[in-house]
This record gives sequence, structure tokens and C-alpha cells, in this order.
Amino acid sequence: MNLKEKKCFIFDMDGTIYLGDNFIDGSVELLEHLDERKTKFVFMTNNSSKNSGVYCNKLKKMGYEVEEEKIFTSGEATRIYINKFKPGAKIFLLGNEYLEAEFEQNGFTLVKGRDENPDYVVLGFDTTLTYEKIWIACDYIKDGVEYLATHPDYVCPLPAGKTMPDTGAMIKMFEAATGGKLPKIIGKPNSLIIESILDKYNLKQEDVVMVGDRLYTDMKLGENAGIDTILVLTGEATREDVENSDILPTYIFESVKTIHENLK
Ligand SMILES: [Mg+2]
Repeated sequence: MNLKEKKCFIFDMDGTIYLGDNFIDGSVELLEHLDERKTKFVFMTNNSSKNSGVYCNKLKKMGYEVEEEKIFTSGEATRIYINKFKPGAKIFLLGNEYLEAEFEQNGFTLVKGRDENPDYVVLGFDTTLTYEKIWIACDYIKDGVEYLATHPDYVCPLPAGKTMPDTGAMIKMFEAATGGKLPKIIGKPNSLIIESILDKYNLKQEDVVMVGDRLYTDMKLGENAGIDTILVLTGEATREDVENSDILPTYIFESVKTIHENLK
């Protein structure tokens, strides 16, 4: 399907629409253009330690107002995924207050202790992780409770080249402590995050296009989910990387500005 006929653009954020605290040239104009032509768009993030409001505030400080509904986190995707199988499920959650709210506000029961018989163990980017939570979760996972993780990133980037340990690193710890148990992972590059977006907005694969700056996450996600992709060269990947990669974006544009020009 031609880019002009797409019903929904799914944007990665850092490196695609902004760098740090500044919009990449042409971002706001592209978003306004999509609004004018009544094309839906969402901002997708693997980070399950923040909620939509945190991202709305960040964009607002940068000068762009957006509704919370347009921010899609791996936490929301995980909630939508579980809801398909077991609405109101009992969950042992490893997550901070934002992720807890995502589940509690949508009819799920969070259990905290042992012997609670949860339906799922959900591992998120838990910035409040304690030894007690790790131990209880390991016991449930070893007992065979269905085990999900919001996303696979090992670290979360911070300014000046620093990083924070992220969910992927926690997956490794649980793997070591449970005799090799691995979760079903929802976030990119896994296709379940796209399936959740398609479910939420009642869209088909051909209706959407994934826009991002990384080959092995954003573009790989498109490949895994069977959707078109646009690689922009304003973040991590370069043309040289594309030549050396077996992941093939559907389109390659210099930046969001060039996408806008191609939609006119
Ligand atoms: Mg990015």
C-alpha cells in the first residue's frame, strides 16, 4: 500500500522525532500534516517505567501538545495482550507505580505476596525492584505461572553516554535463577506490541507503517510484524549500516522532513 494511503503512522521517539530534548527539524510539521489529512499516528516506546503522561509532558515542554491516547508503551501493549486471554487476571507484577496503575486502572488485580495463585508474572522496567519481589517471582515462574516481559532492552540510555539496567538484564537474572525459564516478550522487536496497536485501533497490517531510526529494533519489528517500515537517518542507523544489514526497510528517508515532502 502506498504511503499516502496508510491509516496510521507508528513513530519511534528518540532519534526519530526528537533527539534528547529537541525536535528533529520537520517533526511538528509532519505531525500537523498527518492531523490535517486525518491520518492517525502514535508514539511507541518500549519503556514500561513511565506512563503516557510523562511523555506528553516531555513533548509539551518541547512545544508540542499531544493527547495521552497517542502515546503507546510496552506496558499498555502487555495489558492489552493479557486482556485478550484473561480480562481481570491476577498478576504478580514487577513494575513501578506507573506500570501498577496501568494494570489496576484496567480491571486487573495485582497480588504482592506468596501463595496468591497469580495467572501471570509480568516483568516490566521495575525501578523499584527488591530482593523480596525477585524471590517471589522466581518461585512463581518455577511453579509454571505464565511469564511475560514488557520489552527486551538490556539498558535504558541516559544523557552523556550513561545507561540504567533495564528489563532485558532482569530477564537474564531470572533465567539464571529459574533454571533457564524465559518470558514471552511483548515490546519491540517482537510483533506482539504491533498486534496490540492493531487491536486497540482496529487496524490491519497493511494500514500501518513503522517509522524509526534503528535497524535491529524498529525495522526488525516491522519485519516480524509483517508491516511496512520507514528508516530515518537522524538517529542511530546510517546508509552504510543498511548496506551491511539483512534487515531491509521498506523506505529509507533522510528524516521526518523528507517523509512530509513525500506525502504532499
Ligand atoms: Mg530511536
